[in-house]
Amino acid sequence: MHVVHPPELSDAAGDDDELPEVLRTYQTWKGSNVFFLGGRFIFGPDVGSVVLSVFLIVVPVAVFCAFVARKLIDDFSHHLGVLILVVVIVWTFYVIILLLMTSGRDPGIIPRNSHPPQPETTDRGIEVESGLTLTPQLRLPRVKEVMVNGMTVKVKYCDTCMLYRPPRCSHCSICDNCVERFDHHCPWVGQCIGRRNYRFFFMFVSSATLLCIYVFSFCWVYAIRIMHSENTSIWRALIKTPASIVLIIYTFLSVWFVGGLTIFHLYLISTNQTTYENFRYRYDRIENPYNRGIFGNFKEVFWTSIPPSKNNFRALVHREPKPLTRITGGSSVNSNIEKIPSDVEIGSVKPIWKNIARDDGSNDGGPQRSSLGRSGSWDLQSEVASITGIGFSDRVNRGGSSGSLEVPIK
Ligand SMILES: [Zn+2]
Ligand SMILES: [Zn+2]
Repeated sequence: MHVVHPPELSDAAGDDDELPEVLRTYQTWKGSNVFFLGGRFIFGPDVGSVVLSVFLIVVPVAVFCAFVARKLIDDFSHHLGVLILVVVIVWTFYVIILLLMTSGRDPGIIPRNSHPPQPETTDRGIEVESGLTLTPQLRLPRVKEVMVNGMTVKVKYCDTCMLYRPPRCSHCSICDNCVERFDHHCPWVGQCIGRRNYRFFFMFVSSATLLCIYVFSFCWVYAIRIMHSENTSIWRALIKTPASIVLIIYTFLSVWFVGGLTIFHLYLISTNQTTYENFRYRYDRIENPYNRGIFGNFKEVFWTSIPPSKNNFRALVHREPKPLTRITGGSSVNSNIEKIPSDVEIGSVKPIWKNIARDDGSNDGGPQRSSLGRSGSWDLQSEVASITGIGFSDRVNRGGSSGSLEVPIK
């Protein structure tokens, strides 16, 4: 079962009755994503940048084909000239497909909860600094600590998604979703880079680097052949092919960007870090609990199966009836909580963790397995189990930020 909400809060206030009773999940989606073809493709809100990226790839390649590769066909015997043209076209298609596989698919979004999780029994010694008053009896800790490979990792509560983020998960402020193994939000592909598309992102960036080197190299080959055939200097030869000059400059500048990214991500993959972790935690100073050794780290990125999406964007869902009672504010409510007043219902605070796990699993038809940790795998269900107190310590970070979604004990 997937819990649904009206698409917009304003709709909930006024036009509720005009909406159909049965919708698809993507039509009720609360993140900022843009969907195409009835929810078959999901992009970030900056999907327009994908068009720009395709343009930045296709136009130079078209110039290369028209003004360089076509001329080289006659210069090489045994169809080698034709091969130069065919390779660049096929490789460009490959790069574009990798770009779309990175951009148009679920990067690893964790479905939002419809209610805040049920706090554990109050006699477990849970303490919090501040919170939103929901009922006078219960509290939710803002940060919990779980063990990963014998090391303590803090998992934070997400106010927007109303869940404890699994380790390595982060909330993308652009897409407004919690994303597993969040790397970064890439404005060039218009999508979060996360657990389900990191491999394609790396393949896209590295393939684009090779495309730059290929075009750069054959522009020089063409200029050198002009130099030899006309017995002139390389500079005079280059002037005879202005398209080559433009492409050499363009690919030279581009390769610093995509090549630099490729090398940076090779470093991140070899040390099993995400871009987010690299900027935030600096694992050169503290030990990285996810590091499995260089071969294990490469294997994790390239030779493990990509888990199925936790979201079925095309699933039919019934429109949720209007909640009768809503909390509209609190003494220490932050902006995230203020944005979602209709999600917090009085009287809905009850044990729901196991239901959540079951609901999420049923959306994609199976458990979500990852390969975190040497000692075993981590999935949302085990995450939920751990947070509900099975097998993990659960201490409270007293330094949590303000505006937590908590239910203080009075
Ligand atoms: Zn979130
Ligand atoms: Zn994003």
